[in-house]
Amino acid sequence: MAVDSVWDTSLLLGGADVPPVLEDNAAGRSPFLLTCDHYGRLIPRVLGDLGLPADELTRHIAWDVGIAGVADALSKQLDAHLIAQRYSRLVIDCNRPPGAPGSIPRISEATVIPANEGLTRDATELRRRAVFDPYHRRIAEVIEERLRDCIPTVLVSLHSFTPVYAGIARPWHIGTLYHRDTRLPQLLLKQLRAEADLVVGDNEPYAVSDETDYTIPVHGEARGLMNTGIEIRQDLIADPAGQVLWADRLARIFAEIETTLRAQRLI
Ligand SMILES: [Zn+2]
Repeated sequence: MAVDSVWDTSLLLGGADVPPVLEDNAAGRSPFLLTCDHYGRLIPRVLGDLGLPADELTRHIAWDVGIAGVADALSKQLDAHLIAQRYSRLVIDCNRPPGAPGSIPRISEATVIPANEGLTRDATELRRRAVFDPYHRRIAEVIEERLRDCIPTVLVSLHSFTPVYAGIARPWHIGTLYHRDTRLPQLLLKQLRAEADLVVGDNEPYAVSDETDYTIPVHGEARGLMNTGIEIRQDLIADPAGQVLWADRLARIFAEIETTLRAQRLI
């Protein structure tokens, strides 16, 4: 009860908390607009440790391990605008429709999240207003500005996945994720399959859906932007060396895709 009263009456993000949105290379000239929903694992001060031990807050349930380093480096190499979200997906998942199962998870994999149990409607709304809304509002604004200025815009949503989930090992090194728009994912799959050392997932380990995803359906499909999600396996990008290698590889591949898209007058 005491916890509820705090959430009901205070702002979620106080003076000691950083804003949820991180942007890099906002003047970048690339047609690729990079988003990263699970970039960070910060927790607003007022929520403490969510009732979890420290080792739970550094593993994949809290964020997309390794993707921040890939996103930063890829943004620089492609000269692409990156919009990323700094708070843990355990606070609110920025790639779930608000209110959907898992938006503010009570259980993630097999871990109960004590601070997410029995949330009031106000506490739920506070998470959304403090973290989810500013992030998605900024993505929408940037897309709006780019379209108004006739800047070609292709949405690339960057994620990483755990090598083992609920005891099942995942064989893919990287996967493309999509739903209604297959143009960019098909080009990406072709390029990735040409890399001899890769096991490539086609809508693996997940497929995009309206029920389980937000960024691609709302900012890509609903706006008519070409789009793809990318999932990289976390053990490959656990350290800075791996992150740079994967950013290099993706930068090379996306440069080739850009050439193809321009030749086909798709951008
Ligand atoms: Zn993710």
